[in-house]
Amino acid sequence: MGTKTLPFTREQIREIAARFPTPFHIYDERGIRENARRLQAAFGNVHGFKEYFAVKALPNPFVLKILKDEGFGADCSSLAELLLAEMVGITGEQIMFSSNDTPAVEYQKARELGAIINLDDVSHIPFLERHAGLPDLVCCRYNPGPTRVGNLIIGHPEEAKYGFTREQLFAGYRTLKEKGVQRFGLHTMVASNELDYRYFIETAVMLLELLVDLSRAVGIDFDLINLGGGIGIPYTPEQAPVPYDRIAEGVQHAYEDLITQNGLHPPRVLLECGRAITGPYGYLVAEVLHVKHTYKDFVGLDASMADLMRPALYGAYHHVTVLGKEDQPCTHIYDVTGSLCENNDKFAIDRPLPEIEVGDIVAIHDSGAHGHAMGFNYNGKLRSAELLLRENGEVVQIRRAETPDDYFRTLDLEALETFAP
Ligand SMILES: *Cc1c(COP(=O)(O)O)cnc(C)c1O
Repeated sequence: MGTKTLPFTREQIREIAARFPTPFHIYDERGIRENARRLQAAFGNVHGFKEYFAVKALPNPFVLKILKDEGFGADCSSLAELLLAEMVGITGEQIMFSSNDTPAVEYQKARELGAIINLDDVSHIPFLERHAGLPDLVCCRYNPGPTRVGNLIIGHPEEAKYGFTREQLFAGYRTLKEKGVQRFGLHTMVASNELDYRYFIETAVMLLELLVDLSRAVGIDFDLINLGGGIGIPYTPEQAPVPYDRIAEGVQHAYEDLITQNGLHPPRVLLECGRAITGPYGYLVAEVLHVKHTYKDFVGLDASMADLMRPALYGAYHHVTVLGKEDQPCTHIYDVTGSLCENNDKFAIDRPLPEIEVGDIVAIHDSGAHGHAMGFNYNGKLRSAELLLRENGEVVQIRRAETPDDYFRTLDLEALETFAP
């Protein structure tokens, strides 16, 4: 059984909280950088390997700057995500635009930035051509349908709204070729939070076999394949991290068998992971406001599901550490809650923890992906700050907490003055 550790002590967090009040998410720069280097090292032998960080997981430009510095590109799927990439100087083919149900303006912005456009449907070929023109390089997203079993979060591929069918890909690339597109990419994303490394190798085999068929049938070379994201992280202490080197070895084998042996033009191999890159290196830090004993024992925090909605949304496990009580026995069973008027606003249910008192500080682990990013304002909840723990121990506020003024900002309060009901 593994353990879940923290990159800070209770005393350090008390000092940080004196400057930046709880709740906040704090990200560990060293952890993020070391992990990025592990991924790059594992895929070192894979042709043209590059990770495009899925911006939706942690859309903060300070973090994007760090990842750019580590050699990552950005995987974007909305106008604001494209603007975030641009803000930190990630442009051109360092951006993968993997969108769906895409508005014309977003294709136009992606084209303006020179991003690699990853089409979600065969009907998007004329749509893109009409609204933004066809670029030199076009990627298409494959949905394998009922031939593969999806996992819990992403569901069965045939139920998923994403991607082309196999037949549509053949037709789509023919059309693209006829229209003068020069370079081609092939993408799929069929897993989310998957911990079995073999799944990613199977995906690579599936995609490379398809690439061989497409190359031959359509008479085109592929510039890149993108294996998508979806590498999982060990949310529970019992789980183990996905071994990147195992995935890389398997991908490399499949590549040699299918591309090299067949004498095909060698495509670059891309990933677009979000969760695995930053997830484990974020912590939602909150203070205990109330401890309440009714039919159960409840610990009420100053954070809520507006700060981290994965437990409420998916019943996801997030480990909870009570700072300074790491070594105390877990003698109590608590529901750890937020303040939202929704009974699913619980970070943990029936969780064994040490005895908790008002004023204790808790860290909720693995909030570094799909954490702050999924925040919302329902119930007038204001999104928390985001802090960065630098490698030298310095703490930088990389996003301040929202205030009521932020919440009211989109209202026309002048018009309200004169509005007669
Ligand atoms: C969400 C998403 C990702 C990243 O998924 P993770 O599970 O965070 O790795 C990558 N690509 C696309 C198209 C996505 O929608």
